[in-house]
Amino acid sequence: MNRDKSKTLIERACKTIPGGVNSPVRAFKGVGGDPIFFERGQGAYIYDVDDNAYIDYIGSWGPMILGHNHRPTIDAVTEQASKALGFGAPTEIEIMVAEKIVEIMPSMESVRMVNSGTEATMSAIRLARGFTGRDLIVKFEGCYHGHSDSLLVKAGSGVLTLGLPNSPGVPAALAEKTLTVPYNDLEATEQLFKAYGDQIACVIVEPIAGNMGCILPDPDFLHGLKSLTEKFGGVLIFDEVMTGFRVAPGGAQEIYGIRPDLTTLGKIVGGGLPVGAFGGRQDIMSHIAPLGPIYQAGTLSGNPLAMSAGLTTLNHLTPDVYTKITKATDKLIAGLVEGASKNGITVCENHVCGMFGFFFGIEKAENYQDVAASNIAMFNDFFHMMLDSGIYLAPSAFEAGFISAEHNDEIINLTLKAAEGAFALVAEKHA
Ligand SMILES: *Cc1c(COP(=O)(O)O)cnc(C)c1O
Repeated sequence: MNRDKSKTLIERACKTIPGGVNSPVRAFKGVGGDPIFFERGQGAYIYDVDDNAYIDYIGSWGPMILGHNHRPTIDAVTEQASKALGFGAPTEIEIMVAEKIVEIMPSMESVRMVNSGTEATMSAIRLARGFTGRDLIVKFEGCYHGHSDSLLVKAGSGVLTLGLPNSPGVPAALAEKTLTVPYNDLEATEQLFKAYGDQIACVIVEPIAGNMGCILPDPDFLHGLKSLTEKFGGVLIFDEVMTGFRVAPGGAQEIYGIRPDLTTLGKIVGGGLPVGAFGGRQDIMSHIAPLGPIYQAGTLSGNPLAMSAGLTTLNHLTPDVYTKITKATDKLIAGLVEGASKNGITVCENHVCGMFGFFFGIEKAENYQDVAASNIAMFNDFFHMMLDSGIYLAPSAFEAGFISAEHNDEIINLTLKAAEGAFALVAEKHA
């Protein structure tokens, strides 16, 4: 597979962009080799600047749940663009998006739009702190909630890929306010509440974790977090930036039947354009400016172009979409597990609807500790062998994979065929 143009572009990019990329995982640091520059997408396929085709299992890290170049979304954006790109003043489409979100996720009684998942979680934390008058926050090891200071403590995603424990530049005085607990460890969380319960403003959690591969929650763990925050007067924040509209229309909170106090959204809610949102209980949201004193604002927040992409995508998320992606994911994962076991390779997986994690060399993945013990070298070899067969997986053992409604049987079969060869080579190399 010839990737000469990508090679030239990364060299050029590195001269004016740090590491040549605008988000670290894209640089392939975790897996080695050069990143690929892309040009266009269609359905489940993406095409690089050298015109190589790949089956895409990233989908822009989630938003492309309907596949690339989804006609109605592109048409809606094009139509809006022909009217105006934005005003910095209210538009009706912002209400339509808010109404749609409230309809799909009833725990969100009131919603504020922002421009990224990072902004959503950062603002939700400030709101929880302002609302409770407390400073401490609780997060879980390996969960990623964007790159704001308070949340870059034992974080997942690129922080794990690059092997950074915590980021320099986060003041110790602030990091001290973030208490961390292993994911799925309710007992440790209870201990924390026993010691600091009256100082804890909020618990923020990925209700299905997707930034250390895909890790499923013990339902008792999630229900326990709900009881603890209720008992101690803290705010429960479900960070559904990844899982919202992905694992079920109403996100993980729909699956587990839990009503968090606040929810953060991103990724799919923007239909591929930069959008985030946070919302929840009306009595908490009413503390946000201009209703209340807790400040939060955004020049481009709710801009009509992004809203039109988000709204159109949400409007097309029919039950049929979820049935399709569930079937495709089940088939892919069953095939991968079978392919690995045929070659004597130990793997384990977690998946839910159109989101999956696949781990080499471990038998279960229930928290960061498990994932950290997985065989990264095997994953990296597998990744590159798949890439050379035209299958684009996330370039990191610590990222989840995503499937769209365009990943049909034929595409899954092509993927499994490529995986067969890749597993055989991995087995040989790591014998
Ligand atoms: C992607 C992600 C974020 C950050 O969103 P950005 O738009 O990248 O800022 C936050 N939380 C979770 C769970 C995510 O998956």
